[in-house]
Amino acid sequence: MKPHNNIRTLQSKRRTLEERLAAAKRLRAVEDARFRARQAQGKLRRFLRTNLRKQEVIAALALRRGECNRCGACCEILYKCPFLKKETDGTATCGIYEDRPNACRYFPIDRRDLQEVRGSCSFYFIEKPIKLEKAS
Ligand code: SF4
Ligand code: SF4
Repeated sequence: MKPHNNIRTLQSKRRTLEERLAAAKRLRAVEDARFRARQAQGKLRRFLRTNLRKQEVIAALALRRGECNRCGACCEILYKCPFLKKETDGTATCGIYEDRPNACRYFPIDRRDLQEVRGSCSFYFIEKPIKLEKAS
């Protein structure tokens, strides 16, 4: 192959690589925007549910299992809450724990909430409430 053909091939490969990188960057930006939109929707949903639909929240929490690992991820949904304190052992503490909003108190209410913390939350949900049989 002639030298100028080699140069053209290299330039074309470089263009293809640049185009692929730009496409991957655009995809990441779109995914990030979608994730943030889901978080915003979740924040509003939790606010409305915990303040106006308490029976629905009680029913949903009956399916929740596990314990909080104090990762603090739910305090950084969309933005980092100013009351969040990070401890030296890596755990998180709420600066207004006793007075924290209901949306914080009951997080996560259902599976949808887990999607907003990218797998950090140690709670999980079962499909249906477990009926206890009467002892004979
Ligand atoms: S108020 Fe407390 S529990 Fe609620 S987001 Fe802020 S730090 Fe977290
Ligand atoms: S994301 Fe889940 S495990 Fe982490 S602090 Fe919030 S409730 Fe606890």
